[in-house]
Amino acid sequence: MNLHEYQGKDILASFGVKIQRGLVAENHKKAVEVAKQLNAETGTSWWVVKAQIHAGGRGKGGGVKLAKNLDEVESISKDIIGMMLKTPQTPPEGKKVNQVLIAEDVYYPGDSEPEEYYMSVLLNRASGRNMIMYSTEGGMDIETVAEETPHLIFTEEVDPATGLLPFQARKIAFNLGLSGKAFKEMTQFVNALYKAYVNSDSSLFEINPVLKTSDDKILAVDAKVTLDDNALFRHKDYQDLRDLREESPIEVEANAVGLNYVKLDGNVGCMVNGAGLAMGTMDLIKQSGGEPANFLDVGGTADAERVETGFRIILKDPNVKAILVNIFGGIVRCDRVAQGIVDAYQNMGDEIQVPIIVRLQGTNAVEAKQLIDDSGLDVISVVEFKEAADKVQEVLS
Ligand code: GDP
Ligand code: MN
Repeated sequence: MNLHEYQGKDILASFGVKIQRGLVAENHKKAVEVAKQLNAETGTSWWVVKAQIHAGGRGKGGGVKLAKNLDEVESISKDIIGMMLKTPQTPPEGKKVNQVLIAEDVYYPGDSEPEEYYMSVLLNRASGRNMIMYSTEGGMDIETVAEETPHLIFTEEVDPATGLLPFQARKIAFNLGLSGKAFKEMTQFVNALYKAYVNSDSSLFEINPVLKTSDDKILAVDAKVTLDDNALFRHKDYQDLRDLREESPIEVEANAVGLNYVKLDGNVGCMVNGAGLAMGTMDLIKQSGGEPANFLDVGGTADAERVETGFRIILKDPNVKAILVNIFGGIVRCDRVAQGIVDAYQNMGDEIQVPIIVRLQGTNAVEAKQLIDDSGLDVISVVEFKEAADKVQEVLS
């Protein structure tokens, strides 16, 4: 589950990570109100207005702007709230901004150049350990840094048995070129950040930039936080942080009924049991010259009700021109799945306007094919995987 910057920062702060402080606002009147409140709390007289969407690169897209007085807070907020913000990480049409974060200005005017660093915490799947990735080249696109100057990106792996050790935090501060007060601040920052990562059960923290202010404070200016969905049950208070407006409506609906659905850009809908087979099916569709419209894992119980729900969700995507059902009957018998497909099809009647190709393999596959062939419905049944994908291309062309 992805969070907004302001939500991520709240979590960081709750574990003692120092952040650029801010308050969220849904409209420009509220923006002025919270700007005043922030002035009272922090003394800041300049503010940054930051669009809250689930995508980075907002600064370059015009979604982060400095306001030097309350009138500017109001007018900038008015411009940003409701806009379709386009960044390299949004869909081409952009993402609608529903709220802004009004943050204290921490790049003090007139001061010498502030230092911006990059820091993330994530799991290194190869070693099975958490790692802290960091660089002196913060504030910019880290992908570009990785490509052009990879030696400027450092990593520090954490042994799960010991946790982050004091020398590791010091090494990070040293590699970032810090000394004195900033050095100490950085070791505290790293310790708090790592503690926050582990205790919030996150799968990604990306803080870009981490800022060294001219008075040597270390602050998180941005926060990209991804929580591990599988651990959400341990964090009842985080569950409300989900912003469904940021997610694809079809995916939200599918997830609500326990289907694992991801929308893609192609025209061949797929319904498959098991994530591995779903990936294989998508590959095969591509190899046969098609493009999958989605990933859909219906899981172990492919009964009539689930199949029908699956069809309905796939068909919500107007790009779908054919559906390929690819089920391996191991524990679930193919003939039962076939009956489910027939029942679902009959139940839905005219709602199905596209050809359906079914490939059932495994226990009772022959009976299953017979059942579908005898049903008299407009369903093409095949046994071989490749044949199924080729059939899809045939009906599309
Ligand atoms: P992103 O573009 O989506 O990654 O959003 P960020 O939160 O990283 O902000 C983008 C840029 O805005 C930063 O790299 C800073 O250069 C700038 N910025 C953020 N906070 C402040 C601030 O308090 N004052 C000033 N002057 N600039 C800021
Ligand atoms: Mn950023």
